[in-house]
Amino acid sequence: APPVLAIIGRPNVGKSTLVNRIIRSRQAVVEDVPGVTRDRVSYLGEWNGKDFTLVDTGGWEADAKGMQKRVAEQAEIAVDEADAVVLVLDGLVGATAVDEAVVKMLRRKKKPVLLAANKVDSAAQMTEVYPLWNLGLGEPYPVSALHGSGTGDLLDAALQAM
Ligand code: GDP
Ligand code: MG
Repeated sequence: APPVLAIIGRPNVGKSTLVNRIIRSRQAVVEDVPGVTRDRVSYLGEWNGKDFTLVDTGGWEADAKGMQKRVAEQAEIAVDEADAVVLVLDGLVGATAVDEAVVKMLRRKKKPVLLAANKVDSAAQMTEVYPLWNLGLGEPYPVSALHGSGTGDLLDAALQAM
């Protein structure tokens, strides 16, 4: 079976947009409303001749209860079933307390984690991502899922980690 790459992060950071960018299709549902993706949805991806399974997940907020608790559980299951994880953050907002809690969870899992700083739509915004080095997950990859910039470098690193 192809290796599994899970895409996780808070609601509305652009996970489904990134998934669509990677699979070159519009299968993952993108909405301005947080929490549209509720469960884990798998897609087949391909990069540089390598097949992999891409798993889109719902995001969650810190006060997890009800539906939010469910998506948090789904994201954790996605991590457990993955060979590598892409944690998507909003590159212009930076790391929130919720993001930091997720980083803690990921540390326990001991899986390879790539940090994608999404919504960096212009070169002028690149410097916004430097503080994300402080999360201790290595290099933050500035990407714009909307425009497609930076996703190649992110995928190169992700495929290498799997
Ligand atoms: P998800 O909840 O993490 O899956 O986020 P979505 O993919 O549904 O995106 C949430 C919103 O962010 C949508 O309005 C997207 O169009 C927008 N968005 C996603 N990626 C980018 C990006 O790279 N740049 C900008 N400016 N907006 C983005
Ligand atoms: Mg989504």
